[in-house]
Amino acid sequence: MLEIKKYKFWFCPCTQDLYGDEVLEHVHAHAVEVAAALNADPAIPYEIVVKPNLLNDDTITALFNEANVTDDCAGIITWAHTFSPAKNYIHGLLDLHKPLCQFATQYNEEIPYDTIDMDFMNENQAAHGEREFGHIFARLRKNRKVVFGYWKDPEVVAELGAWMRTAVAIVESKNIRVARFADTMRNVSVTDGDKVEAHVKFGWTVDAWPVNDLTPYIDAVTDAEKSALADEYYDTYELILDGRDPQEFREHVEVQAAQEIGIERFLVEHNYNAFSDHFGDLGDMKELPSLAIQRLMEKGYGFGPEGDWKTPAMVRLMKIMTSGIEGARGCGLCEDYTYNLVPGKEGILESHMSEVDPSFADGKISIRATPLSMGDREDPARLIFTGKTGPAIATSLIDLGDRFRLIINEVDAKKVEKPMPMLPTGTVFWTPRPSLKVGSTAWMYAGGAHHTAVSFDLSTQQMVDWADEMGIESVVIDADTNLRTFKRDLQLADMVYGR
Ligand code: MN
Repeated sequence: MLEIKKYKFWFCPCTQDLYGDEVLEHVHAHAVEVAAALNADPAIPYEIVVKPNLLNDDTITALFNEANVTDDCAGIITWAHTFSPAKNYIHGLLDLHKPLCQFATQYNEEIPYDTIDMDFMNENQAAHGEREFGHIFARLRKNRKVVFGYWKDPEVVAELGAWMRTAVAIVESKNIRVARFADTMRNVSVTDGDKVEAHVKFGWTVDAWPVNDLTPYIDAVTDAEKSALADEYYDTYELILDGRDPQEFREHVEVQAAQEIGIERFLVEHNYNAFSDHFGDLGDMKELPSLAIQRLMEKGYGFGPEGDWKTPAMVRLMKIMTSGIEGARGCGLCEDYTYNLVPGKEGILESHMSEVDPSFADGKISIRATPLSMGDREDPARLIFTGKTGPAIATSLIDLGDRFRLIINEVDAKKVEKPMPMLPTGTVFWTPRPSLKVGSTAWMYAGGAHHTAVSFDLSTQQMVDWADEMGIESVVIDADTNLRTFKRDLQLADMVYGR
């Protein structure tokens, strides 16, 4: 189900006919050469297709409207190769609702000092053209991404490739469909929000389902099916029996196998790619879905617990954005649980009662079946592991009543000092940037949740770009965060984004 459409990006050279046909032929030839080089680069995740030179209002408006209705077009990449009068773009840009990247590059890297003449300069005047082109976006208050630099520079290519992943997430956002089994946990504020506004802003569908509409799908799983999946678990993971009878342990595992199969059948049949549940409202289910949900998250479904519907949508968004990354390091739900406040070793232990995404796992993954201290069901089997180390981003989308805010904290994931043999959950441990103290303080000032959508593969900039295109506020907590200016930025954002 994580199969993402084979999206294409339209590469449009911006020019005009002031300098004759020969220049126009050169512009097109340069675009073909640049696109071929980009397509051959593994940092470019989707195919770039060269479109005819953009010359005048009629053809630009027609092309941008064609992009709007072309399903497999995820965005437009422009290149103001020569001077291209920007009034020609007003109608097209007002109509365009696909993402656009202003790729401010130039065919030649260096000024050809010995041979440069006026003809060369007229043909290769990106510095001139990109400014004219940029002006019209500013004038129209139209969002777009600017990627600046030489098209053979690996950093520039990586920046373009990263934006393409964001662009796909923007066009795929309207396909995010969240099934909510049960409502939000009693009295919890931050996981709730305005679902109508989420549909307006992000295109997300969020539907409620009675839990017992789901349970028949789990009950219908045959003994042979759940036994075969349990065999797969036993081949894939280590077992920690904790002294339990092996047959009794296996029964708990098979409950989860039936849940994995049954929940996925429900989601596929009803066309959902994300979901939430609630430990306090499990209907006829024997156990809280735990290992089952961990496996579904690893397959690419978004998930959030306790009726939280924003986190599953964000997790699904991250699964889309990281789809196909070679050696991807993982993304999914985390929950801030417990601090380590020892000087020099500060951090937050991230976990959940059981549903932590195994894509975070570093090394071996084991199955344990232990009681939950909450709820009234049997002991759920779940996957136990410790998380990867390295830089990551933790994000939280919150509803402030008059708007959504996306909070992004850059964190450094680490190993905990010692094993935690009594703790029956998967864990990740990290130190927020710029420090536990400042990062956590800023997070609380911003109103961030205890549930986060976390990625080891995405950058802060990719999430900021997504928020910009969605027209919502984003706030970043990183190595440069200073609490005094951070609070002032939040106050200013109330003026910019508040109603
Ligand atoms: Mn929770």
